[in-house]
Amino acid sequence: MKKTIYWFRNDLRLHDQPVLKRLEYAKDILLLPVFCFDERLFVKTELAFPKTGSFRTKFLIESVFNLKSNLHKLGSDLLVISGKPEIILKELALKFKADEIYAEKEDTGEEIYVEEELRKNITIPIYFHESKTLLRTDQLPFSINNLPDIFTNFRMKIEPLIDLVRIYDELIKLPPFPDDFREYETVTTKSFGLPEPEYDNRSVLKFIGGENNGLNRLEKFIWQDKSILRYKETRNELIGEKYSSKFSPWLANGSLSVREIVMEVKRFEKEIEANDSTYWLLIELLWRDYFRFMAIKYGNKIFRKGGIKDKPQNYVNDFSLFEKWRTGQTGNDFVDANMTELLKTGFMSNRGRQNVASYLCKHLKIDWRWGAAWFESQLIDYDVTSNWGNWMYVAGVGNDPRPNRHFNVDKQAEKYDADGKYRDLWLQS
Ligand SMILES: Cc1cc2nc3c(=O)[nH]c(=O)nc-3n(C[C@H](O)[C@H](O)[C@H](O)COP(=O)(O)OP(=O)(O)OC[C@H]3O[C@@H](n4cnc5c(N)ncnc54)[C@H](O)[C@@H]3O)c2cc1C
Repeated sequence: MKKTIYWFRNDLRLHDQPVLKRLEYAKDILLLPVFCFDERLFVKTELAFPKTGSFRTKFLIESVFNLKSNLHKLGSDLLVISGKPEIILKELALKFKADEIYAEKEDTGEEIYVEEELRKNITIPIYFHESKTLLRTDQLPFSINNLPDIFTNFRMKIEPLIDLVRIYDELIKLPPFPDDFREYETVTTKSFGLPEPEYDNRSVLKFIGGENNGLNRLEKFIWQDKSILRYKETRNELIGEKYSSKFSPWLANGSLSVREIVMEVKRFEKEIEANDSTYWLLIELLWRDYFRFMAIKYGNKIFRKGGIKDKPQNYVNDFSLFEKWRTGQTGNDFVDANMTELLKTGFMSNRGRQNVASYLCKHLKIDWRWGAAWFESQLIDYDVTSNWGNWMYVAGVGNDPRPNRHFNVDKQAEKYDADGKYRDLWLQS
């Protein structure tokens, strides 16, 4: 009897799952699916806030337990543990007498460190697979080293390949789960020393983690509300659930597959209507892939002050100003409204993110990495490469072909919040 561990990481779903699909009808095999809350995600940063805050932690817990319940439906289960994955998996592999481990590949420093330590700790084979992006690196029409540093050049080469995207069929069953490893521990934000976040009814959406809710959101945005048909015109708005897809939180921890989204958009275009907006959503999704591939190309440079351009700017780094920015008290009402939304809900529109990021590093002259760290803590859709890639872009040390660009926040407020409704919403006491 073969014994296999499947280690879930940021792929918290059962739809479009390449490896599990392969194991679906495997004979003479016991399958132990595992998720590990990495304790290092919950430490305090040097800036005195937690590396992962309450909103994202709650969303992650919901995602993990939705996965567990979906695994139950297929006759399997999920072992949920907290600690350091490289140690936990070593102990589990010994106890289970595992023959092999499968997991999704990650691409950035902390995650690669865990993979390397795990390889040092155990002798059984560990197979990592790519599953985060629309196309895998081996499907790209260039090597990662030749990835264009300008998005438009990347997009033009990738667009013709979108039709190659395929998804894996729904899972019908899974190999049996080893009974010795069943457990029913509950996990809450308090398990990680964090308060339960309060829901603010001004939120753009009541975000609840898990693939069921991710798939429901996909259905609602595309098929029920057909908001996709106006996406290009509405995507810079600031209030409510309809102006943009809100797919990002589910995409970030993999409870929604990007390929599933693209297949649904393509089906919608075929069956209902294709217009500039349906096309534009696909283009926006390519940004997500682009930042992922950039991180593979440039490694830890994406976390350095000088970014991928190796051009560190001079910053003043006034901590009290940073705290005012972080808590929505700079005195600039558009920045403060956006930062308050982030503080109270764990979400902010793309337009808002661009403005507050530019304001922090170009107006307040504070190191962009402080801002990126706060977003990492607070955003429910935090995705390591999208976050640090976008921050580098705005700070002028990333992929912006015009790195000296500076958002005029007051003009932006006039344009995107002309009637002041957004500022009123978030600045009311
Ligand atoms: C400073 C800064 C930090 C950011 N940090 C993150 C982050 O941690 N995680 C994250 O997912 N996005 C991040 N973004 C990108 C973008 O703001 C969000 O993806 C978007 O606001 C999420 O809302 P939505 O799903 O409704 O987007 P939609 O407008 O509906 O777009 C659909 C999808 O396309 C992708 N997408 C759109 N714009 C971008 C972009 N600029 N970069 C990468 N992917 C994009 C996302 O997956 C998004 O869900 C950041 C942007 C900035 C300026």
